[in-house]
Amino acid sequence: MVSLDQLPLRPELRGRTPYGAPQVPATYRLNTNENPHPLPVELLADLGAALGHAALELNRYPDRDAVALRADLAHYLSRTSGEAVEPAQVWAANGSNEILQQVLQAFGGAGRRALGFTPSYSMHPIISAGTGTGWVDGHRRADFTIDVDAAVAQVRELRPDVVFVTSPNNPTGTAVALETITAIHDATEGVVVVDEAYAEFARAGTPSALTLLPGRPRLIVSRTMSKAFGMAGLRLGYLAADAAVVDALQLVRLPYHLGSLTQAAARAAPAHTDALLATVDAVKAERDRIVEALPQLGLTSVPSDANFVLFGHVADAGKAWQALLDRGVLVRDVGLPGWLRVTAGTAEETDAFLTALSEIAADHRTTLGESDA
Ligand code: PMP
Repeated sequence: MVSLDQLPLRPELRGRTPYGAPQVPATYRLNTNENPHPLPVELLADLGAALGHAALELNRYPDRDAVALRADLAHYLSRTSGEAVEPAQVWAANGSNEILQQVLQAFGGAGRRALGFTPSYSMHPIISAGTGTGWVDGHRRADFTIDVDAAVAQVRELRPDVVFVTSPNNPTGTAVALETITAIHDATEGVVVVDEAYAEFARAGTPSALTLLPGRPRLIVSRTMSKAFGMAGLRLGYLAADAAVVDALQLVRLPYHLGSLTQAAARAAPAHTDALLATVDAVKAERDRIVEALPQLGLTSVPSDANFVLFGHVADAGKAWQALLDRGVLVRDVGLPGWLRVTAGTAEETDAFLTALSEIAADHRTTLGESDA
């Protein structure tokens, strides 16, 4: 095998590392924000039947526009957000990563720029690079919140074509106020993507940006079945926006991008939304248990509306990560000095994490305020 340098790779991809959490074997894998609860048995039965039925037609291409699935997803969004979302406003793809890629293919690209407020989801700049879109890091305060005036000023100055707002934000966990999103939207002529991969885990009273869609054709809200729905293996993400955005994405999507087995499996889920979302409440309770236990260990966390908690301050995140792994608990070192991210899952996982953390906390924590994060 030759080295990458010997290939005629696009210059902007040279020297880059691919996305990916280390896939290290561990008893407790709390590093990729999956939902650990098994799918409800009734859903599994429906899923098997739906896949069997779809398999009978595998000689045919799938529904290119995933019409029935989009209607199901529109119904779910309308029911849970209180905002009427029409099927024509919904688009689906292989994970929200592909949704984001299609958005950048349509609205970013060569000579165009995307802006995101880092630290945030690391795939936003990576997909930007892959689509030839320039990337600009936006600013956050030291407590990881977005300073709306600074954000608006930066948007006005840079005039980005695409702005990403992750809410609840990954890896910090906190939801972004709707007023911040509208201010950013009003300051740009580009599209604003609110990445709501973790929306279902938000604390009570946190409205979705879906409620902002009417009258804002440049606003896009992306969602996924990978987190709250516990179907990360399925690869199904979707968005809601003005129907014109969906038309725009059809210009860049590959024909038949969403296989018929994927569509059939995804369609089995909405009928079981209540059972699926019951696990969300259980996960939220575990998240809150982690947040409440941290101060007793001399640690702190960032307020979380997601199924994970960013905790610190640790003197050396890499060493604390390894010490936890030595005790069977795999968390995520997200590259923020003084902080680590842990996924909230089952009560057993919380117990294992807190036990391991209590064993190592005294050795690894640092005095509050000393972190350079
Ligand atoms: N957005 C955010 C903020 C995420 O954290 C993730 C996954 N970690 C995604 C999007 C992509 O998820 P998927 O492609 O599985 O839908």
